[in-house]
Amino acid sequence: MNLKELTAFIAAEFRKTYGRAPRWIAAAPGRVNIIGEHTDYNDGFVVPMAIEFYTIMAADQRADGKGIITFRSTSQPDAATVNLSQLLKPAAPKWGNYPRGGVAGFLARGVKLGGLDVLLHSTVPLGSGLSSSAALEVATATLLEAVTSKTIDPVEKALLAQKAEHDFAGVPCGIMDQFISALGREGHLLLLDCRTHKTKLVPMSDPSVALIIINTNVKHELSGGEYAERRAQCEEAARNLGVKSLRDMTADQLDKNKGKLSELVYRRARHVIGEIERTLHAAEGIRASSWPSVGNLMYASHTSLRDDYEVSCAELDIVVEIAEDIGYKDGIYGCRMTGGGFGGGCVALVKTDCVDAITKKIAADYKTKTGIEASIFVSRPAAGATILQN
Ligand code: ADP
Ligand code: MG
Repeated sequence: MNLKELTAFIAAEFRKTYGRAPRWIAAAPGRVNIIGEHTDYNDGFVVPMAIEFYTIMAADQRADGKGIITFRSTSQPDAATVNLSQLLKPAAPKWGNYPRGGVAGFLARGVKLGGLDVLLHSTVPLGSGLSSSAALEVATATLLEAVTSKTIDPVEKALLAQKAEHDFAGVPCGIMDQFISALGREGHLLLLDCRTHKTKLVPMSDPSVALIIINTNVKHELSGGEYAERRAQCEEAARNLGVKSLRDMTADQLDKNKGKLSELVYRRARHVIGEIERTLHAAEGIRASSWPSVGNLMYASHTSLRDDYEVSCAELDIVVEIAEDIGYKDGIYGCRMTGGGFGGGCVALVKTDCVDAITKKIAADYKTKTGIEASIFVSRPAAGATILQN
């Protein structure tokens, strides 16, 4: 469903649920990171894209005038309520903590809220690495902007949403997901500097290319310590190299100082430093519609994540190999794992004309090689959070 269809859908569902039409409607998208992996906690850059999959929310004032907000989700049996006369804290059902955190962010800014009936629906698959959580937080904040007529600067809104995830959902996430969901613009990617929070929209208006997201539908539950271990190795590298973070080193400088690091930590640093350079080059390549070079940077990113950073897995590597086999002549410019790794998904840059054939081929070959059904999504760069009815 596109945004127009979704708007009609949520309005109809709201009527069925609450017996009247909604007054306000707002939506926010999920995202995929095109390039810049494991760079965020090294003060580096990322280039995410808002996808044409959204969380949409509709609301009306409560009929009984009580200071209670009721959130209902089309995907959940239990409603989540927020009693505005009490101190807000995490509560059951768990999913309600994402919107609850959004409400808390508004109250913390001194904005007055009255009771509301809310219904939400998401076309972002939950828990698939496309950030349904950020879409939900940012949609909540955008809905509350409509309700209260108080506009929040998009960067502040992204930080409010991130705080909701930290404080209410208990997930210590970075800033990327909320930034792209709040600041995305149709036909653009976002170059985000994770150190300064500065953003640049990168036009990707060429309709001849699209992105395909291939979810491997595997999640290798490792000890869970891998992420913390990688972070610690990056900190060790920065410390031994005498810089604040790996962002502050070039590849040349790293090579001259190789002796200061163990072989393993050197490879970790080589990934991060190389990836930051690739990310900046990719942003230039996207701006110039140099698709073959952007595609090569994506393949190089994958190789580095697989060999130097060691966060890939067999299924992700298989998807990238299938993409390489299909190749440039049949419409794939590049492909890489996206997200933290050890499962999750890949993102491929493809020719729009070839999307159907490529999707079929990847699904079939992945099934043959792994016995697993992949979930595949196609998107062009979508708009960020929007108020659809005010
Ligand atoms: P991801 O962000 O990659 O989709 P997360 O685990 O971070 O995965 O967030 C998924 C969680 O967000 C869900 O388990 C649920 O609690 C909440 N959530 C997201 N979208 C919805 C929705 N439409 N309805 C209810 N809960 C949702
Ligand atoms: Mg999430």
